[in-house]
Amino acid sequence: MAFSLSKYPDLNVREQAERFESMGLEDTLRWTWETFGRQAAIGTSYQGSGLVIIHHARKLGLDFPVFTVDTGLLFPETEALRIRLEEFFGIQIEGLKPAQTVHEQWADYGGNLWETNPDTCCTLRKVLPLQQRLSQLDVWITGLRRGQSETRAKTGILEMYEFDKLREKNLLKLNPMANWSREQVWDYIKANAIPYNPLHDRGYRSIGCWPCTKLAGGENERAGRWEGFEKTECGIHTFLGSNI
Ligand code: SF4
Repeated sequence: MAFSLSKYPDLNVREQAERFESMGLEDTLRWTWETFGRQAAIGTSYQGSGLVIIHHARKLGLDFPVFTVDTGLLFPETEALRIRLEEFFGIQIEGLKPAQTVHEQWADYGGNLWETNPDTCCTLRKVLPLQQRLSQLDVWITGLRRGQSETRAKTGILEMYEFDKLREKNLLKLNPMANWSREQVWDYIKANAIPYNPLHDRGYRSIGCWPCTKLAGGENERAGRWEGFEKTECGIHTFLGSNI
């Protein structure tokens, strides 16, 4: 693969992926920083596990860039949390914005696209801005956990994707929280007094854009997203296609 053979000739992705399975979060992040530096960045929507990653990175002095996808349709509580987190961690969180404002999109598509075609809405407001940022990176660090839903049950701690066939660019995706449980995440957040979204205390388990997030119970942590549609993922974790 172009990625492992050229830019990082000593890296064997499969072997490293196996090592990560028994490595703790601190060692995983340290190795990633020593290998990739700021070519690795943390993407977060401020759900619990992303906050744990940022906290560890700050504690260890690992200066990964941190970004979020700012759809323009986030809850006010989520917007306010961003400011609190920037203060708490002493960082700036980069907001990735869609090409169109919500109003421009509404005018072009003749109404609320999330009600008529949420896949297109997610592509425009989430996937495209994210792809643009990922094209500049070698490693995307995420807070995905296997326990979040059936679609995430096979998440690897280290995965490699073909990102841009024409330019032979691959992308590593590091999911260092894959084997953490929801309880472990929240115990850590509470123990370290990390600011979190107050909507969790009102019963929301997974929080995205306000039009597509509802209260829901049950086993699936992501139930409550895109109620009334078959959709379970916004596309930011599925557009990459197969793991190579
Ligand atoms: S989550 Fe809903 S509002 Fe947000 S981008 Fe996707 S469809 Fe649009």
